[in-house]
Amino acid sequence: MERAINFNAGPAALPLAALERAREELLDFAGTGMSVMEHSHRGKDYERVHDEAIALLRETASIGDDTEVLFIQGGASQQFAQIPLNFLPDGGSADYVVHGAWGEKAVSEAQAATKWSGGKVRVAATTAQGKQYTRVPTPSEIQLDPKAAYLHLTSNETIHGVQFHEFPDAGKVPLVCDMSSDFLWRKTDLSRFSFIYAGAQKNVGPSGIVIVLAKKDFIAQGRKDLPKIFQYRTVAENNSLYNTPPTFAIYLIRNVLAWIKETGGLSRIEEQNRKKAALIYGVLDEHAGFYASPVERASRSTMNIVFRLPSDDHEARFLAEAKKLRMVGLKGHRSVGGIRASLYNAVSLEWTTALADFMRDFAKRG
Ligand SMILES: *Cc1c(COP(=O)(O)O)cnc(C)c1O
Repeated sequence: MERAINFNAGPAALPLAALERAREELLDFAGTGMSVMEHSHRGKDYERVHDEAIALLRETASIGDDTEVLFIQGGASQQFAQIPLNFLPDGGSADYVVHGAWGEKAVSEAQAATKWSGGKVRVAATTAQGKQYTRVPTPSEIQLDPKAAYLHLTSNETIHGVQFHEFPDAGKVPLVCDMSSDFLWRKTDLSRFSFIYAGAQKNVGPSGIVIVLAKKDFIAQGRKDLPKIFQYRTVAENNSLYNTPPTFAIYLIRNVLAWIKETGGLSRIEEQNRKKAALIYGVLDEHAGFYASPVERASRSTMNIVFRLPSDDHEARFLAEAKKLRMVGLKGHRSVGGIRASLYNAVSLEWTTALADFMRDFAKRG
């Protein structure tokens, strides 16, 4: 069997080692005569996996004791609503920075949530030019309300390929960040964030589950009159086992995190990711007359690289030829068109080199 060279935006490529481990353990997990999926979430065999996943996350991302690590179902999209329900008090106001489609969605869901929670949503900065986004805002463009309940950022806009490389300073305002598409891609200080959430299906596992890193004191500020299932304190107090979690998804996250650790941790992952991005942007710059990169240099995403070819016909041919080389997932998001190569952690340097070679060859042939 030949594996596809997978540039999907999410669900995305998973490390082969993590999948092979799942295959080996599928029918007989840890000598128990059944798969991990068939174990009780209250039993010690599953509990060991659950706790190992959390411990690996803490270790990999250097997460302090002041922070809870939570697993929540429903995807990042559910967090768009759940965050304001918890943290936007009646009469309060929350600030949002928008530099792409996911930020827009976060604002729109927060606005819907205010009908129940009270409170107000402010867009503190947007870089929209119609439906186009080509950069993150500069620090001076962010009109921060110093009394805001929180400032919400999207660290990487998956559809537009626009990424924060330096996070803005929010002063005393708690920072909340959607890191779905660039979680654990580099070594970075996460301690300045009060609340981070990331859908697993981009960089760390399968879909349907979100990893949340939240400061304990921030969780404590959350509303107490919501149904229990929507309060973060419920998840935290029960070690993400208040109700039955997606055990197999958490198991796979464990496998991916173990792979990150075994292959050299975040510093090695970061080095690889920077090399990969440099390769593809290198080809875009070398052939700037052929490939058009809409994103401003300083905001270029290391995870999702978007570009256009001279015509729709070129793009269709590019995708068809790539497919013959077993390269999949290169079609841009339906809302923006063009080409997008997602270079998440599990995408190897070898795959990326193959793509760069193909792009060079394609540009020469025109
Ligand atoms: C993929 C993605 C989401 C949505 O994730 P779901 O799991 O589909 O809810 C939200 N934000 C960002 C930045 C994403 O990349």
